[in-house]
Amino acid sequence: MAEELERKYEVDIQSTEEKQKLSKEIKAILQDSGMMDEKGKLKLKGVSPKMLKRMKQEYVDCPVLKENTQFIQCFVCPNFQSRVMGKVFCKGDPL
Ligand code: SF4
Repeated sequence: MAEELERKYEVDIQSTEEKQKLSKEIKAILQDSGMMDEKGKLKLKGVSPKMLKRMKQEYVDCPVLKENTQFIQCFVCPNFQSRVMGKVFCKGDPL
């Protein structure tokens, strides 16, 4: 059985009505991993359009980057471990 992963932070997931934009770098990561098509539309396996819409409005106050970070960006971050009950388990390594 896998050992429990070491994590430094449990970060609350927050939501905003404001439109959030993904940076070019993050889009490239998403596209490379097949999570976004060429038109910039997100395609996450097993995530319903309704859930996706909600995810796009979510962000975390990232303790490593020290700024608000879109959940989608957080999701593809090397520090991301899992999402449990409205929190992100974050490894907390320097980025
Ligand atoms: S997983 Fe990455 S983006 Fe998310 S809170 Fe941790 S360091 Fe920040």
